[in-house]
Amino acid sequence: MDIKNNVSLKQFNTFGIYVKAKFLIFLEKEVEIKDVFDSNEFKNNPHVFLGGGSNVLFVNDFDGIVIVNKLKGIEILREDEENVWLKIASGEDWHDVVLFTVEKKYWGIENMALIPGTVGAAPIQNIGAYGVEIKDVIEDIFAFNVETSEKRIFSKDECKFGYRESVFKNELKDKYFISALVLKLSKIPKVNLSYKVLNEYFEKNNIDKNNIKNISDAVIEIRKSKLPDPKVIGSAGSFFKNIFVEKDILKKLLEKFPELPYFEEGDVYKIPTGWLIESCGWKGKIVGNAGVYEHQALVVVNHGGATGVEIKNLVDKIIDSVEQKFGLALVPEVNII
Ligand SMILES: Cc1cc2nc3c(=O)[nH]c(=O)nc-3n(C[C@H](O)[C@H](O)[C@H](O)COP(=O)(O)OP(=O)(O)OC[C@H]3O[C@@H](n4cnc5c(N)ncnc54)[C@H](O)[C@@H]3O)c2cc1C
Repeated sequence: MDIKNNVSLKQFNTFGIYVKAKFLIFLEKEVEIKDVFDSNEFKNNPHVFLGGGSNVLFVNDFDGIVIVNKLKGIEILREDEENVWLKIASGEDWHDVVLFTVEKKYWGIENMALIPGTVGAAPIQNIGAYGVEIKDVIEDIFAFNVETSEKRIFSKDECKFGYRESVFKNELKDKYFISALVLKLSKIPKVNLSYKVLNEYFEKNNIDKNNIKNISDAVIEIRKSKLPDPKVIGSAGSFFKNIFVEKDILKKLLEKFPELPYFEEGDVYKIPTGWLIESCGWKGKIVGNAGVYEHQALVVVNHGGATGVEIKNLVDKIIDSVEQKFGLALVPEVNII
């Protein structure tokens, strides 16, 4: 086992924050998991599992062990006329897996093309984009208990998926290492253009909607125009979750802010957090080396050389101003470490 000491995490987080970890290890094979969990470095220190580091903000040096997930492999578990069940190792790159399924014409995750990060982190916050969430296709999750090293299978129901939530982000946070997912995908076309922007793209460009590659290509193009490329500008995507309110709160808000956008979702109303942040004047603002992305106010960015503390201070200021103006509490989507 090659546990490294005092390692820079700059290349392991898409914010590009320069912090150090006391220990770091690359997990290459499933059989190594037990040895890692049994090591003194793991037992006597806090730990953090990292995939692509695209949903974390390191505020300070990490005084513990970082386990970087490198588990690879995709296999077809079974298939019938309609569906295919894929077992995918958690260290696989999410977007590569989407491209693989698009090539094979396995429907279900094409709307989630270009989301950065690994397969194993995807269920942690139930990733979602363009009208689809990973919970829609998950069958099982294989995971190892960090205390006992025991492997168990979580069914979809046990994962308690919600909007950018799961049991692994709450009561089981850091208690399990996810080693693989089983996704159930459709061999029969299942087009989902419920997301307005995506549907408009197809209408405007007069493209065949029943072609899976057209859908993933459209998603890729739309995303590129809205979100910063982590290789060019550091970020963790949307820093905050959207806000959901009850009808009476929405009514009061609309009395004061008639232009407030909202979307009915079941018996609650979604308010786009990006709009709230933008109307507090943050969009495109630069504060030291940190800032708010000029094309999307939900995204906090590192303009180069920002520290985790600088990003966190900016985040706190944004939260304060939205609270003061609208009386609404923003909730970070990103894991602050
Ligand atoms: C430009 C950009 C765009 C984005 N767009 C979207 C989007 O459209 N939709 C969306 O939902 N998200 C989006 N994100 C957020 C991010 O891509 C996802 O949350 C992704 O799933 C994170 O994967 P990761 O491997 O980088 O996770 P990491 O950042 O490495 O880890 C995230 C969390 O999961 C834990 N974790 C990671 N792997 C494991 C494991 N194997 N077992 C247990 N715990 C683990 C970590 O400890 C951490 O708490 C975006 C991010 C960026 C930078």
